[in-house]
Amino acid sequence: MYSLLGCTNLVVAVIVIVGLARVCAAAEPSRLRAGSYAQAEAIWSRALLRQLCAALVLPCFISGALYLAEAFYERVEGQWLAYTILSVWDRTLPPILESMCLLIICGFFQPEHPELFLKKQNSMGNTSTSQELDAVASSPGGQQSSASSWDKTVQSLSARSLEVEELLEFFCRLGPRRDASGAEAVMPSYDPWLSTTSDVVRGAIIPVSRAGDCGLAFVNCLPGATASTSTTLPDCMVSHTWSALFLDLVAAVVADALELDEYEKVAQRLAEPRGAQKLLQEVRRKSCQRYWICAFCVNQHAGICNGFGSEPTPGSDQHSRWDAGRRDTVTGGVFGLCSCSEPKYFDGPMCEMNKFDDMMGLLQHRQPNLRHLVAVDRRFELFSRAWCVAELVQSYLSNLPQTVLLLSNRALDVQAECLETYNRLATLTVLDCKASREEDRLQILAKIPDVHEFDVQLQAVIFGSRGLLRKALAGFDRVDAAARAARRAASAAAASEGP
Ligand SMILES: [Zn+2]
Repeated sequence: MYSLLGCTNLVVAVIVIVGLARVCAAAEPSRLRAGSYAQAEAIWSRALLRQLCAALVLPCFISGALYLAEAFYERVEGQWLAYTILSVWDRTLPPILESMCLLIICGFFQPEHPELFLKKQNSMGNTSTSQELDAVASSPGGQQSSASSWDKTVQSLSARSLEVEELLEFFCRLGPRRDASGAEAVMPSYDPWLSTTSDVVRGAIIPVSRAGDCGLAFVNCLPGATASTSTTLPDCMVSHTWSALFLDLVAAVVADALELDEYEKVAQRLAEPRGAQKLLQEVRRKSCQRYWICAFCVNQHAGICNGFGSEPTPGSDQHSRWDAGRRDTVTGGVFGLCSCSEPKYFDGPMCEMNKFDDMMGLLQHRQPNLRHLVAVDRRFELFSRAWCVAELVQSYLSNLPQTVLLLSNRALDVQAECLETYNRLATLTVLDCKASREEDRLQILAKIPDVHEFDVQLQAVIFGSRGLLRKALAGFDRVDAAARAARRAASAAAASEGP
């Protein structure tokens, strides 16, 4: 009888070891990039699974050994004392041990939030910041730093910003007039679920910011807009992509102002009739923040208003992107061009499109609380656009506090069934970004001192409050999370290894 009980316990222990070894093998950290978020999660998962394995196997081994020893001494003459001691242990030790192990399995001795070792911002130290500021002080081309036309453009750009209220008021004017507020409607073709930021720039921002024969930046056309005063300095620089929904950009900025950590609900409310007006009232109750958004703060009339850029070779990828950029996504019609006589600059000291780095450096000097909001579109296109990545790089080098807003954090939850988003973000690398000109891409990447370090930090910003770290884990949730994390690790490894 004792032999049978002993052997059964040992067999159970072996089954548990074999079963959990397979799950542990899925979470093999060495298959993932060193330092990536995916690897941090895999390490956590494997440690927890090993702990679980020990907690399950230890009572089986001890009970098994006790039973086998009892079986042995039962048969040996004159060993009744050893047999009696073993019988007492066999009745008292296993229940105590099993209770302790159950508490371990339930995470009784563990912190509620998993401890993932993610690299935090500021690991670069302050040297890079001072280098950037020096770079601003000495403007390009070896010109005199005192009020050169380059610096004047940088100063003018950095003094522009708009409030969330102004952004929402503009949003209310888009589309066929949806309410009787009396505000003049612009861009009747606007559809919140189709129109991109590029569409809105062509269809609304450029026409609205035309001033007679000239043109201004949209923010300079707002009532009460003044030249550079400290009150118009932005609190937050916004990175976004023009090819994504304009709705997502507005929703992300509004969500940031409302201190939300995702923007899906805001986007849904914005798309509803009178939703924007209700949000406007909520935003007015919050402290007002000023945002720098290129579409509104750059004078489009000094650049793109009268053209779509030179036509690439027909049939190429660039051509289809160029063609999509000149058409209204909703109607398919080519946008009309602006006939203003504002001088155009695509390069040099007067150009407003090549000064993001200098502007960020200058703003950091003048606005100590400056933040960087990364408004990630629902298709995560932002991370593959070289110019958006360039902005991420700049704020990383300047140690600006970054906020990454996603449509929804649920896709990164450990319980999420679909792993596509997780795989994409947990193995993200800027090396995969694209630009229409390869030399632009290489120039942007060359500015990153250590691409790997940059990727790791970006993932830490994205997952710092998401994924495993979003919710406290209690009881058997930990075991569930560990097994799911192992599955995610295997999936991310497969995705990064490629077909
Ligand atoms: Zn114009």
